[in-house]
Amino acid sequence: MKRTLYWLTKDLRINDNLALKLASDSDYLLCVYVVDQKWFKPNNYQSKPIGANRWNFLQSCLSNFNQSLLSLGQQLHIVYGDTLPSLASLCEIHQITDVITTHLPGTYENRLINQLGDNFPQVLVNKVEQFTLFTHGLLPFELQQLPVSYSKFKKIMNNVAIPNISPAIKTLPSQFKSVPAPAIVRPHWLPVKAHKYPTNGMVFEGGETSAIKQLYQYFSSDLPLSYKTVRNNLDGWESSSKLSPWLGYGCISPRQVMSSVSQFEIQRGKNSSTECLAAEILWREYFQWCHFKVGAKTYMFKGLSSSQPLTSFYPERFSKWCLGMTPYPLVNACMNELRITGYLSNRGRQIVASCLVNELSVDWRYGAAWFEEQLIDYDAAVNWGNWQYIAGVGVDPRGGRHFNLQKQAVIFDPDGRYQSKWASTCDKYFLSNQPLDSVDAADWPVTMAKDNG
Ligand SMILES: Cc1cc2nc3c(=O)[nH]c(=O)nc-3n(C[C@H](O)[C@H](O)[C@H](O)COP(=O)(O)OP(=O)(O)OC[C@H]3O[C@@H](n4cnc5c(N)ncnc54)[C@H](O)[C@@H]3O)c2cc1C
Repeated sequence: MKRTLYWLTKDLRINDNLALKLASDSDYLLCVYVVDQKWFKPNNYQSKPIGANRWNFLQSCLSNFNQSLLSLGQQLHIVYGDTLPSLASLCEIHQITDVITTHLPGTYENRLINQLGDNFPQVLVNKVEQFTLFTHGLLPFELQQLPVSYSKFKKIMNNVAIPNISPAIKTLPSQFKSVPAPAIVRPHWLPVKAHKYPTNGMVFEGGETSAIKQLYQYFSSDLPLSYKTVRNNLDGWESSSKLSPWLGYGCISPRQVMSSVSQFEIQRGKNSSTECLAAEILWREYFQWCHFKVGAKTYMFKGLSSSQPLTSFYPERFSKWCLGMTPYPLVNACMNELRITGYLSNRGRQIVASCLVNELSVDWRYGAAWFEEQLIDYDAAVNWGNWQYIAGVGVDPRGGRHFNLQKQAVIFDPDGRYQSKWASTCDKYFLSNQPLDSVDAADWPVTMAKDNG
């Protein structure tokens, strides 16, 4: 008798879900999503693993996925608590024989699933590879030999066929006879405030239904044909595919997105824009494999480099950056958009990350952790990988990125429209050349050695 627990994480979809397909071959099935209380507590970098915008998005993803399961005679059991004890208790109560989950590069998820396997050696743990385009077995090199530059990776992987997408699941096994009752009382540690949608920003609705709608709308338009020329715009729904939040929770798979690019190219023709879009999806892929390869180094100060960056932690500068109160109006506008909507263009992310590291000399990990809390499309490998790249401790052989903020404003916001849309009240204050730090260097009791004599 096969009694399966399917632990859902970043695979909240019915289409192209190989884990659900595998789970469908069971006698009884329990589909579980754990909302972990650690997500709502500040971490080492003063940020929480999930903020209000992503929590709101995630709840719609869960609700939409549950609707799909209900139509197949199943149900999503949302458990609130600590992940490992919650899963362990379900394994025990329901005499689980098989645990299925999607294989993620995150060190935290892998540690949990390994611990679960250790606690229940009789249970077969199956990690399904579907968060990436390729599988370990399809890589034409050992993981430890992953090319150190993206361009080499791209060149090699362009010759490897991406697995076909699998059709939506049509039937699922029965639920257990005594399924856990859904939690009636919301735990006290969940955010209580009702979510406010931004009035002037982009709104993303979670769930597979909206993901497929966006995929369809984007690829049935002409937009992919001009992606390369508009992708660096700071604003605009149509400047890029806007698929990242749904990719993050697996409401859609990277294989579905890549397959849409290929279909589009067959029907409308290939050009430098469609190639550029495919290349960005391959960047996502590259960061996932880097994370699989280097594990916890993804989160370390010196990252993949041999020496530590020359930055530190300045609490006041960091909080001014988070709140959009720096001396740089363009950075403030980006940080305001991010905090209010949970989304920021790729160019905006590069600009604010460069500012934190270079102008403000703050340890990049604080920035990455703030992004983790704020972004609705947060992806561990992509976020921390991009931050490392900009801080000069990542996969980039050229070492670091420093954007000229004035130049960026002239190129990407020539009429200042973006900056006035997301302006901070402090922008005028800094125009009068106020200092960044409220404690001036002269206030510190520092005596230079040469002054002593
Ligand atoms: C400091 C920093 C942090 C970032 N953090 C995240 C994150 O947590 N999650 C996330 O999904 N993206 C992150 N990105 C990458 C990028 O900004 C977003 O993927 C993109 O803006 C999402 O919008 P889109 O779906 O319209 O992208 P499009 O431009 O339409 O691109 C299509 C897809 O390609 C991938 N992609 C695009 N740009 C990149 C990139 N630079 N690196 C890797 N993959 C890319 C994404 O999956 C994206 O959905 C980060 C970039 C920077 C500079």
